[in-house]
Amino acid sequence: MLHLLCVPSGSDLSDTFYQKALQHKFEETMLVASSEALVGKARMQGIRAVTFDALANAVTEQCSAQLRDSLVVRKISRKAQELILQDIIDRLLQEGRLPYFGRLAGKKGFIRSAASLMEQVGSCGATAEEIETAFAHWDGRSPAYRQKDREVAEIYREYLAYLIQNNIYDMSGLYRVAAEELAALRKAGGTVTWKALYFTGFYRFDALQLAIIRLLSQSCDVWVALPYEPGRPELYGAAEDTYGDLMQYAAQERLPAVPAAERTASLRHIVRNLRSPDKQPVPADPGIEIWQLADEHEEMRAVLREIRQQLRGKTVKPSEIAVVVRRMEEYSGMRDLCDEYGVPVQAEDSAALAASPVFRFVAAILETVSLHGREKTESWIAFLTQPLQKIVLGLKTETVIQLAEEHYYTDYRSFLSDVLEKTGCEALDRFRQEIDAIPAKAGIQEYCDITGRLLSLTKLPEKAGRLYREGQITLTGFKNTVCACRETQSLLQKLPQDYRFCRSGKQTADCAGFAEALQEAAGRMSLSLRPENREGIAFLPAVDLEYANFKQVYVLGLRENEFPFYKDENWIYNDSERDDLAALGIPLPSSADGYGEDIHFFMNACAAARERLVLTYFADEEHNASPYIGEILSLFTDLEVKVKKAETAVGDSLSREELELALARSGQTDALEQMEPGLAESAGSDRKRLQKSAGWNGNPDDTMLLQRISRQIGDRFSASKLETYRSCPFKFLVTYVWKQKEAEAAGEDMDAGQRGSLLHRVLEKFIGKHLGEKLRESQHAELQKELDEIFDTVCQEFADKGGLYPGDFWQHDKEQQRLLLHRWLRSEIAYSGQGEWRPVSTEKAFGRKDNGEVALDINGRRIYLNGKIDRIDRAGDAFFITDYKSGDTPKQKEFADTDLQLPLYLFAAATQNEGNVAGGGYYSLKDAERKASFMFPEAAGTVPWKTFSEAKDANGNTAAVTDMKELQATLQRVLGELLERMAQGDFSPTPAKDCERNCPAAAVCRFRVITRDREEEDPNG
Ligand code: SF4
Repeated sequence: MLHLLCVPSGSDLSDTFYQKALQHKFEETMLVASSEALVGKARMQGIRAVTFDALANAVTEQCSAQLRDSLVVRKISRKAQELILQDIIDRLLQEGRLPYFGRLAGKKGFIRSAASLMEQVGSCGATAEEIETAFAHWDGRSPAYRQKDREVAEIYREYLAYLIQNNIYDMSGLYRVAAEELAALRKAGGTVTWKALYFTGFYRFDALQLAIIRLLSQSCDVWVALPYEPGRPELYGAAEDTYGDLMQYAAQERLPAVPAAERTASLRHIVRNLRSPDKQPVPADPGIEIWQLADEHEEMRAVLREIRQQLRGKTVKPSEIAVVVRRMEEYSGMRDLCDEYGVPVQAEDSAALAASPVFRFVAAILETVSLHGREKTESWIAFLTQPLQKIVLGLKTETVIQLAEEHYYTDYRSFLSDVLEKTGCEALDRFRQEIDAIPAKAGIQEYCDITGRLLSLTKLPEKAGRLYREGQITLTGFKNTVCACRETQSLLQKLPQDYRFCRSGKQTADCAGFAEALQEAAGRMSLSLRPENREGIAFLPAVDLEYANFKQVYVLGLRENEFPFYKDENWIYNDSERDDLAALGIPLPSSADGYGEDIHFFMNACAAARERLVLTYFADEEHNASPYIGEILSLFTDLEVKVKKAETAVGDSLSREELELALARSGQTDALEQMEPGLAESAGSDRKRLQKSAGWNGNPDDTMLLQRISRQIGDRFSASKLETYRSCPFKFLVTYVWKQKEAEAAGEDMDAGQRGSLLHRVLEKFIGKHLGEKLRESQHAELQKELDEIFDTVCQEFADKGGLYPGDFWQHDKEQQRLLLHRWLRSEIAYSGQGEWRPVSTEKAFGRKDNGEVALDINGRRIYLNGKIDRIDRAGDAFFITDYKSGDTPKQKEFADTDLQLPLYLFAAATQNEGNVAGGGYYSLKDAERKASFMFPEAAGTVPWKTFSEAKDANGNTAAVTDMKELQATLQRVLGELLERMAQGDFSPTPAKDCERNCPAAAVCRFRVITRDREEEDPNG
């Protein structure tokens, strides 16, 4: 029998389930929980508790034991799943059965996307035939998309067949096996041995999980607690489908009398009324606060300041406080800041193996094998400065650092001989011989054996044990080292098994490829740590708050695009395709599911607070406050946002950094100078900028000066000139008005700009020789030879003009660039075979002498655009423009916002009478692929890669740009705003992450003068 308990927000039925479970014998019942934390909590009560995966395993074992002797199936890891798919896709490609995916299949990330799609399709419980039938009934598909569907179905069929043939299964396969075994058991008249099962902490189940629950409920009592209230559909979007499904065959039980959670009136009001259609605003009590801060840095500081003050006053214990964020990676500086303020944080019980010092030591060894020249030397420097070297080799890492700083080594052998001479470390000499003996190419098994042997040779557990006995490291440090060694060895034994089922397991790889595979596998393994501190505050992601309970909760990052955070689902099918597929009975997860999940996480964060909930955010021109802030405000009549400043007076400073800033702001230069020589001078200018002193804030207000600046700026604009103003007006002022050049990278290495110019020149020459041609696979060898020759010639030209220094390092770097071009050529041939687009021009300049004016009228002013379009392709009468990027490419959402180049070039191409410009995009040279390109809707689908047709409108909403006229209007609006700000003299420094790198204005803009010095001191930074 299936019993469904709908749990309203803020309630926790765990105790009810514990009581029920304890009425049965231990082995007759099980509690199935959504997280290890809830499993642990139940086990503390003496109840058998497992996750859903463990339940599926137990079901399979029980059923197969009754149905036959045994069912021999093995679960494969995600890595093995990807390797199997790689084999299948390679084979289908060779047989010419994947024309749609052909050009994409070799790209980095494709196999991962394919594996994730297979998992999503598998979780629907669909068979290969069902998928094919659904696709066959999908109306309105273009021929290209029909081909894509056919290929997805084919890959899925082959993949399932492979798993069945080899008696192996992936995660959805495990659920499928469990459901099939249960059905077979029931048919054979058997039954499971449990009397009652309790499911808790889940807000949704996928189709296969639902099938298992339904089948189990035919053999025993199954209780499911689902967060759901029928009157609040807006809050329970994530649970809606699961509720509907369960209600087809469940008995809805009345909620047992659960004592009301002890919350303040305002917090009770939030959990009862958020997204309720009947909500009525009430006066707020001090239990709820909303803070607005200037930026992320101040947001974290304001929260930690307050926590620190409370801990000092002993008004609350650290373990009664939670700091919650939507995604931990957005707040990576939080732990360091906690240390700065002396706020204890609960150490994590587990961490990725890849992040452990032991694994990093192993990875650093492998890194030294494949490289050459300066890169190899750098890898040896990184290896010899690993924190564990003091234990492993007894090496003085300070001496190594000193040597590396004093000399620019391009040959690792001379570096090592200097290290040996200075340190006299004999162990290093022996270890080096072992590393030199690692083969450049070997099988996965051989590499794992060698790496395992090297790790054993370090004798890390024994050495850590001795240091612990001598009192040099803590017991926790010793245990974590031993544990990491054991897990790394276990990974080295398991990895060859992942490859056992696929071709690459039998082939040789180079050491870099092996290191990458090992690193990836270690990233997926977690290491159980022995935390030093269980008494600190909890720092948690919002996804981990099911039934959490704290006296005080601070929720940070409540701003658009951060919380709520909407993840893009697998790109192979977009959201509208997913809607169609759901209607055809294949419910793949979509962004809409993400919205439902996100509000569930937010509600959990609110419900976790008993006495005080503080919601914080900062807003900037990119993102406003989260819509959740508005929703909370609407629940109260008098709740107001407190605009907080993290600025403190000298006497109130709670950390060294706060003290430095406070001294700087109050002009106490003597005290600053005593803390650190030179700090006072830096702080003086910082203070002036903070106070927005005229003459220091980048906003000239003298009319004559403004006119001169305006003349200097002129009416001619390139995309980079406009983009510089868009990103930082002060940098624009220094670059285009003061005419200062970007800081050049020092050293023998080629800087990114030079490298980009070199690659552009090579591609210009190569494509220039093949205008209008289709490149064929059969010509590959010949084309590559031609490309190599052009590359060598261009390198020589650059060297002759002093554009590069042909030293040892360049020799190595040159070969890396050659490889990059080879990868580009492979992609280019594949793209060429995919469609009718052929290059018709390269490096086409516009807006300069003799090549046609491109004018744009903006609010009565005419400006002239100039630039150079890397490449134009043509198909029929339509044109497509391409910009090559050797570094990162702008994102789709940046189009016509921070990315002005692409829309400007599209406009320029159209103005220069190139006919019908269908779209354009970026070609990433480092990834050897075309990124999602802008296409006008009419032309969408005419290029065989991902496209989009939208830009932000005046209200910041995303809207389709239907034709060139609309694109021109968008440009007039966006550029009009920039020109207006320039005219008014707005040249304020606008800091962004790492903006000071190569910025000619970094030394004068006074951007975080003090903090930058601090960051430079960080030896790990
Ligand atoms: S360092 Fe950053 S804030 Fe300063 S001028 Fe350069 S880009 Fe602007």
